[in-house]
Amino acid sequence: MSLVAIAGSGLAELTCARLLASRGHRFRLAPEPATPAGSRPLLLNRPTLDLLDSLWGGGLLDGTWELGHRHVTWGGGPAERFPQPARVVDGTVLAARMRERLGPGHPDGEDPLWTVTAVAPDAAHRQCGRRELLAGTAQLRPGGDERTARLATTALGWVHLTPLGAGRCLAQAMVPGPAADPAALLARLLDQTGSLSVLLLPPRTAVAVPAAPRLHPAPALPPADGTGGLLTVGAGALRCDPLSGTGTAQALRTGILAAAVIDAAAVGTSATALCAHYAARLHGAFQEHLRSCARLYSPAFPDPAWQDELAVPVGGHPHA
Ligand SMILES: Cc1cc2nc3c(=O)[nH]c(=O)nc-3n(C[C@H](O)[C@H](O)[C@H](O)COP(=O)(O)OP(=O)(O)OC[C@H]3O[C@@H](n4cnc5c(N)ncnc54)[C@H](O)[C@@H]3O)c2cc1C
Repeated sequence: MSLVAIAGSGLAELTCARLLASRGHRFRLAPEPATPAGSRPLLLNRPTLDLLDSLWGGGLLDGTWELGHRHVTWGGGPAERFPQPARVVDGTVLAARMRERLGPGHPDGEDPLWTVTAVAPDAAHRQCGRRELLAGTAQLRPGGDERTARLATTALGWVHLTPLGAGRCLAQAMVPGPAADPAALLARLLDQTGSLSVLLLPPRTAVAVPAAPRLHPAPALPPADGTGGLLTVGAGALRCDPLSGTGTAQALRTGILAAAVIDAAAVGTSATALCAHYAARLHGAFQEHLRSCARLYSPAFPDPAWQDELAVPVGGHPHA
């Protein structure tokens, strides 16, 4: 059975390692990064939670904050509040729990037949647009609803509020290009969408994170001439808009598919054909994501900057 190097501690990489181990392959984990990753809140919807549960068993998400509803006002439509169970987890804590469950893996010594990585150079990607996600934290008004996520739109993009527990809330906004003053723009969009009514104050500081959808055009290279194969998974393989709590599920699916590629190659299926299949599946998922964004965003965001953003062909902006 194959020895596989797992290059990092992303959720997709670790999930791939778990599946490989369950099929009798050996994995080698990279050392933990010298600087521990900071906390990274992720909203996980029910299907994502079910997928995690089926892959890792129960208990992985113990103690995380539970949400019960979502309040949505999209593109001038009526406000709706409906049940939508979800959890807010710290991606860094989740990865640490996965790593603990995996155990130490296989020691150094032999060259791996494959490497699975979630990191790829920016220049490797085909990026579609220049949008950014603004993010900051704020306090909810005392007595406010801490179990309902809120999504609303303005002409310039969507705004999402994710209660984090203990009265704190993550405020995010997706805007169609680089923001000169993320905190000021986030405050303006919170105000325009009426979202400020549930917050004590807008976030004092905010970051702008590159969020344009992007795809690695060559995420799978088969082993050749004594060099091991390379499978790029998770955030390194494709990035989708974090709109509905499914980004992690998408990343996990790349880990599942990568494990299937390695497993099938080990029993004699052509690694070249498997790698081509892997790339085609990711390409299909990416195109589907772009179509969904166009269908949802186009009517909701009349701002010309969004119309330009949505008209950009894949690869139109190298990597802003
Ligand atoms: C702005 C934004 C918001 C998102 N919000 C959500 C959300 O609410 N819900 C959701 O389901 N998905 C969300 N996603 C998607 C989600 O972040 C990823 O899909 C998910 O974390 C899994 O990605 P991954 O497996 O590639 O691992 P990641 O955790 O993204 O890691 C990628 C690689 O980077 C390495 N790495 C990380 N930190 C360090 C460090 N300090 N030093 C060295 N290496 C490091 C990891 O080891 C790994 O190899 C969001 C994405 C973005 C860009």
